[in-house]
Amino acid sequence: MRLYPLFADLTGLPVLVVGGGHVAERKIDMLLASGASVLVGAPSLTPALAQLAEQGKVEHYAGTFQPTWLDHVWLVIAATDDRALNAQVAASASERRIFANVVDDPALSRFQVPAVVDRAPLTVAVSTGGAAPVIARRVREALETQLEHALGPLTALAQKHRARIMQRWPDLAERRAFYDWLHDGPVMALLRNARPDDAERELLEALNATASAAPKGSVQLVGAGPGDPGLLTLRALRALNQADVILHDSLVSVDVLALARRDAERIDVGKRCGGRHTQQEQIHQLLLDQTQLGRRVVRLKGGDPFVFGRGGEEMEFLRQHGIACEIVPGVTAAVACAAYAGIPLTHREHARSVHLLTGHGKESLEAMDWPALAQDHQTLAIYMGVARLEEFTQRLLEHGRRPDTPFVIVENGTLPQQRVLGGALHELPTLAKEHAIHPPALLIIGEVAALARDHAWFGIQNDAHRTLKLGDSTHD
Ligand code: SAH
Repeated sequence: MRLYPLFADLTGLPVLVVGGGHVAERKIDMLLASGASVLVGAPSLTPALAQLAEQGKVEHYAGTFQPTWLDHVWLVIAATDDRALNAQVAASASERRIFANVVDDPALSRFQVPAVVDRAPLTVAVSTGGAAPVIARRVREALETQLEHALGPLTALAQKHRARIMQRWPDLAERRAFYDWLHDGPVMALLRNARPDDAERELLEALNATASAAPKGSVQLVGAGPGDPGLLTLRALRALNQADVILHDSLVSVDVLALARRDAERIDVGKRCGGRHTQQEQIHQLLLDQTQLGRRVVRLKGGDPFVFGRGGEEMEFLRQHGIACEIVPGVTAAVACAAYAGIPLTHREHARSVHLLTGHGKESLEAMDWPALAQDHQTLAIYMGVARLEEFTQRLLEHGRRPDTPFVIVENGTLPQQRVLGGALHELPTLAKEHAIHPPALLIIGEVAALARDHAWFGIQNDAHRTLKLGDSTHD
């Protein structure tokens, strides 16, 4: 290791920044945030720096660099674009045993400023010792997505109660187990859910309990999105990284499942719980059994858990059984398929509203308000409709939707094998049959669907099988 890593407490200490441009501005922001007392030396300042000087937040030495500027400072940062001047600053600092950093010049720098992930009071610093700052930046980005923001308040909470935790668990192994619980258990979950007071209460309860409680299981209802793993939320990714067991639908793509913790148990409840009637009850029972084992359960659903996903029923069931439940939304099929087909679901000229409908389920098509749905300038996004395309089309036409209203069917949306079929409403059932559309497929009806022809961008190949009849209403 070429560099010795250290974190400096600069509170109240004078630090000099030479240079008054935008680079200096960034450095000064960070120094001020750490409580340093900043002196900035430069002939002229950016407007933002000039304002800081006016407000007395930094002190301005106007003019060209003087070694006497270094008289009382602990650190210096040279942030000018004049390499000779930067070298002079570094040399003067060296003579006085003051640590100097020259921005973007590791050879002239005695100390370097790392790339930082800020979860204050937790700070992660990344450095390549100047070898390749771009790589440090990439590593920082990766950490940024991995480390949830709740780590900040969690660390602060641990700090606040540190002495009591020491006292309660003098044994190191036991204390470690407690910190694991703190990080993995309900305290962290509550912080993540923006409930800091409840989190602290939970921590204090654990501190006061005579015996450590059996670990409580928990459930996260997580939306896996439509298939493209890039559409997973950061929160969903973190849930998958921490899960002990994942109960997933058959619809969840293998690429998404591949992102989960390697040793998490995966249960395909779509397959396992065959038999229409008992299916949902079996899933409920499984959720109950797994949480009673104290496990962190992720219930992973295609798209969004609350859009035609029975997430509501599962949440109610868990609530009835006193099991903590967190909901992580996902990108629902209508939103994703429309986007990946180049269709804006609403549009100032073509659609005032969008309706999410299902062709499946308790209420039959009878119950729908067809006169309302048949009005123009609105978008219908129909889930699970493949089996009932003919009925949908017929009813809309009967109630006066124009026969030339454009439609698009997106099959396997967002996946490499995505197919998009477009045409006019009156020919929808025929075209779908001709091109053998299979679930999962999402049907979009409305004026906006015509935009797919010009704006398709995903999965288009010179392969007739993939770009099907897009917006073209003539048969071939
Ligand atoms: N909760 C899910 C919907 C579950 S219902 C969500 O929010 O997306 C299942 C239906 O969703 C399928 O029949 C299909 O109509 C639609 N669907 C889900 N994923 C899809 C995909 N990748 N492409 C097209 N349609 C999809």
